[in-house]
Amino acid sequence: MKIIETVTYTPQPINRGYTDQILRVDLTSTAISTSNLSPDFKTKYTGGRGYALKLIWDETSENTHYDSPDNILVMASGPLGNEPRFPGSGKFIVGTISPLTDTFIDSNVGGHFGPLLKSAGFDALAVSGISQEDVVLIVDVDQGQIQIVEAPTFGDQIDNGALSYGETLLKRFNNGKLDEDVAAVSNGIGASNTRYGILNSLFYDSRRKRMRSKQAGRGGTGTVMRHKGLRAVIVRSGLHKVGRNNPADEKGVKRAGSSLKKVIAQVDPKQFRLRSWGTPVLVEYMDKYHILPVNNYQYGQHPDAKAIFADVFFDRYLSKKLPDGCYKGCNLACAKGAENITLRYGPRAGTKVGVDGPEYETAGAVTCMGIFDPGFIMEYNWYCDEYGLDTISMGVTASFLMECFQRGYLSKDEVGYELSWGDIECADRLLHETALGEGFGKICSRGVLRAKEWVAEHYSKKTGKPYTEVIGELGKFAMETKGLEFSMYITKESLAQQGGYGFALKGPQHDEAWLIFIDQVYNELPTFKMKAEALKWFPLIRTWFNAVGLCKLPWIDVRHPEAANTDNPAKNLPTLEYYVQYLNATTGSNKTLQDVLDDSERLHLLQKLINLRHGKGTRESDQIPLRAMGPVFFNEYEARVDYYDRWLMDQMADKTIPDDPESRHALICKLRQEAYDKLCDEVYEAKGYTQNAVPLLEMVENFDLLDQQARRLLAMFGIQRRELSN
Ligand code: SF4
Repeated sequence: MKIIETVTYTPQPINRGYTDQILRVDLTSTAISTSNLSPDFKTKYTGGRGYALKLIWDETSENTHYDSPDNILVMASGPLGNEPRFPGSGKFIVGTISPLTDTFIDSNVGGHFGPLLKSAGFDALAVSGISQEDVVLIVDVDQGQIQIVEAPTFGDQIDNGALSYGETLLKRFNNGKLDEDVAAVSNGIGASNTRYGILNSLFYDSRRKRMRSKQAGRGGTGTVMRHKGLRAVIVRSGLHKVGRNNPADEKGVKRAGSSLKKVIAQVDPKQFRLRSWGTPVLVEYMDKYHILPVNNYQYGQHPDAKAIFADVFFDRYLSKKLPDGCYKGCNLACAKGAENITLRYGPRAGTKVGVDGPEYETAGAVTCMGIFDPGFIMEYNWYCDEYGLDTISMGVTASFLMECFQRGYLSKDEVGYELSWGDIECADRLLHETALGEGFGKICSRGVLRAKEWVAEHYSKKTGKPYTEVIGELGKFAMETKGLEFSMYITKESLAQQGGYGFALKGPQHDEAWLIFIDQVYNELPTFKMKAEALKWFPLIRTWFNAVGLCKLPWIDVRHPEAANTDNPAKNLPTLEYYVQYLNATTGSNKTLQDVLDDSERLHLLQKLINLRHGKGTRESDQIPLRAMGPVFFNEYEARVDYYDRWLMDQMADKTIPDDPESRHALICKLRQEAYDKLCDEVYEAKGYTQNAVPLLEMVENFDLLDQQARRLLAMFGIQRRELSN
């Protein structure tokens, strides 16, 4: 590989979870440097998402877009990553300005990359600038050097793929072999051609004896990386051994980890069975409760759904003997894999591949297109990973376009073929066209927000109907907020999850507030007040997981037996105690759960400020499509007419209910919109915001975030102290 730049370095040891160093790479100038972090930086911003937020806040501006040279791509683990004695500790965060939302996005991802980067001496990697040619960054502890090299080429088929390219590159780098001490992140051709390119985290699985991958899927982080001309980052270091995090209290770490592992071993087999079945287990629950997205979230249930229940994947594809997982020491081990899947479609038809997945979200993205074929789900999963595409954004955008076709906004004239629900060949064709930047795929590649604008403009020109009218009609079923596509839960019957999506700072991704289960299935948030409180509390604790480098699933998907005896079982506080113990044992702190929530609130506020700076922070940006609130069209109402009529009677109490179904349907939509507006009022108040969703100045000041930039920004929204206006 042709070397462009080399620097030598001595890795900083890890002390109490931190190395206190960031690796900085400017691809425009090819400068490589390291910077030391002050104790204050660590105290205030924790790690992971917090580090990414602070770097983006300080070093970018409102004029920074995803493709600006000053946009920064940050990859950062946290102080609690890198510890096999505690379950779920392999996560790292990828944060940047998104091509979909035009504001901060981050995505958390497993694999070995985050822990290896930490072992290599860095709490974070921050990449800025744009390279004129495709390059690869190599961090090599064995050689004590960091290099930028020209990205090698291996022939079109390999070069186009995120998985194939990353694996071939790693073998080339590591003398033809793969092992646990090397890992990489890479992107594929889908990142060149769409706004929702992902970043694949590649790691060697010694049990499966092959390279596996996990994905930083949401918001186009791979698109940013690819635009910077960075094809891959390789890191070689000694794989994280027990104790490598150099914690303050070894025994405390062991105790906290053993306690959590015990709960997982005891409870998971009786609850979700994630260790056996992985997240596809959710398909059955979601279908049962009308939450599984079908035909662009029109329906939440389908008679064919049983064809893709977890037992089908388990019997047909998944290995029964290999508890997978995405990092060492996680006994929940939900990240599944399958071998020898023969592709039926696309440019690689006939090839046998290993698939990492499927996750529930990927299955949901396929049912969203009306398809219930487990083989196609495996194939869709593999191709999206190989091209480097977000399975969610791809599926939701395709589904939106299918509904545009169904409702006459698109025809064969524009698309070139019929976009039909449940048609595998059509979905497959659109997938490949999108990834390769061909045909109608060029429209699908834009994501729902921009595809909606294209369809509206086109339809308006064709029919003479005013653009504003058309975009309003499309907006009712275009499943995006802030520019990000919804993840795979139908929220029509869960007001809490509507808020969970609407208020999520990055856009409608459930990792900020996954409340649908506790609200709709367990009915643990029966009152308006409880929903509003949950919408403040859950995003804070979830933010913390993304800052420290931990997976949330062992907490949220495995409920501690003692949780039932607490005031709020949904918070699973007995398990959170283990997390706080683990934090204190690692870093030597003496924090309480409230301290943890306060630390998170600072990060949450900082993300809010970035959103305000980029025009995505006010009440208007929190609005969700009517499809997320209720039955937009009559066919949706009709499909559950008894349920909706009962719901209406409950709401109207002794008031008169209209006789004709059309009026009842219209009234339901009106009431749902009003409930969401009221929820906004309550949640903003609970969070300490104005009714325009802008934080109060005192609050920003209390969290020590009131720098010059924040003052100016808040003043633009009329938030200032009297003396500041003088
Ligand atoms: S619970 Fe699943 S996603 Fe989380 S760390 Fe374990 S294997 Fe990975």
